[in-house]
Amino acid sequence: MNTIDKFNSHVMHTYGRFDVVLDNGKGRSASDENGKKYIDFGSGIGTNSLGYCDNDWVEAVCNQVKKIQHTSNYYYTAVQAEFSEKLCDITGYDKVFFGNSGAEANECAIKLARKYSFDKYGAGRHNIITLVNSFHGRTLCTLSATGQDNFHQYFFPFVEGFKYTPANDIQALEEMLDDHVCGIMIEFIQGEGGVVPLNESFVKAVRKICDEKDILMIADEVQTGVGRTGKMLASENFGVKPDITTLAKGLAGGIPVGCCLASEKCSDVLTPGTHGSTFGGNPIACAGGCVVLSKIQSQGFLDEVSKKSRYIFEKLSNMNGVASVSGMGLMIGISLKEKKAVDIVRAALDEGLLLLTAKEKVRLLPPLTISYEEIDEGLGILEKLLAK
Ligand SMILES: *Cc1c(COP(=O)(O)O)cnc(C)c1O
Repeated sequence: MNTIDKFNSHVMHTYGRFDVVLDNGKGRSASDENGKKYIDFGSGIGTNSLGYCDNDWVEAVCNQVKKIQHTSNYYYTAVQAEFSEKLCDITGYDKVFFGNSGAEANECAIKLARKYSFDKYGAGRHNIITLVNSFHGRTLCTLSATGQDNFHQYFFPFVEGFKYTPANDIQALEEMLDDHVCGIMIEFIQGEGGVVPLNESFVKAVRKICDEKDILMIADEVQTGVGRTGKMLASENFGVKPDITTLAKGLAGGIPVGCCLASEKCSDVLTPGTHGSTFGGNPIACAGGCVVLSKIQSQGFLDEVSKKSRYIFEKLSNMNGVASVSGMGLMIGISLKEKKAVDIVRAALDEGLLLLTAKEKVRLLPPLTISYEEIDEGLGILEKLLAK
C-alpha cells in the first residue's frame, strides 16, 4: 500500500488534504517522497519559524534528546527554567504556564481570567467577551470562545460564558459590558478569520475598558506572536500590553508547545492543583524554543522580517489578479480578483509552491528566515498562476 492509501485507511479524515507526501526539508524548502522540491510559504501554518532543520535548532534539540527527553512537572529542569526566563525577558511578562498547543494555551488563559475574578469578586463574574470571526482553537472550551457560528455545531452542549462582539465596534463592546464579564479576548490580526487586523483605536479602547473595570485583557497571539509581525509580539505594533498573552505555533520552531504569559497583576492566580499538563514544558520543546528566541533577539533579525514584509507587500500590490493585500509582517492575506484561493493553492502545488488559505484569501506565513531569492521564486509562481 502506498503512503496515502495507508494513511487514509487509518487516520481520521478530519482534514481536506492535498495529495502530497512531504518527506524532508532543508532551509525554506520541503521535498516530497519523489524528491520534488517545494518553496514553503506556509511553514506548517507558521510553526517552522526558522524553516526546516535549522542547524542550531537541530543541534540544541538533538542534544536535549540525548540528555533528558521528558520529566514530570513535579521536578525542575534547567532547560524549562532557561526558556521561561528568556520568554519573560523578551515579552516583558512576569510568569508563564506551558502547555502543548494553542488551544491549551487559550484554555489556560480562560481559566486564569475566571479564577482571577472568582478570587477577587466571588462567583458569577465569569463571562469572556470574544470577537465575531475569531478563532481560538478546537477544544470544546476554545470552540465556544471562537466567534463563528459554523464552529458551534454537532458538539452540544458547548461551554457557557462566551459572548461575541463585532471587531472594531467600540460601542457594541461597551453595550455588552455588565457585572458578569471577567475577560476580553482578541486576536490583533484574525488569522483563520481571513488575516484581518484590528484597528488601533479599538485595541486601545479594549485596554482602557479592561483597566477601568478590572477585566483581564487576553491576547491570543498563537499565530501573530514570536516575530511573525516583525515584533516579538503583535501587541507592540498596537502600543498596548494585554494582561495575558498566549503563544504557540512558531514558538519552538515546529515542536509542539503552547504558553500562557501573565503580567504581575495575575501571575499568581493559578496555584498548585488548579492547572497542569503532563507534557507541558517538555525539555525538547523548551530546547527548540530557546533557539527560536535567541535568533529572534539577535541583532537585526526582526528588522529583516519587516523589510521582507514590505518587499512582499509591494510586489503583491502590483501583481495582476490581486485585489488587495492585508496583514502585517510575514502574516499576509491576499484577496484575488477573479480566481479562487483554493484553486490557486492546488495549482501552486504542481509548480512547487506551498500556500495556505484563510477564508476566501490566499494566506502566506513563510518561515521568518525566508530569503529574497525564495520570495522572488515563490511570488513568480503565484504571478504566473494568477495570469493563467
Ligand atoms: C492555530 C490557532 C489556535 C489553535 O492552536 P492549536 O495549536 O491548533 O491548538 C488558536 N488561536 C489562534 C489565533 C490560532 O491561529
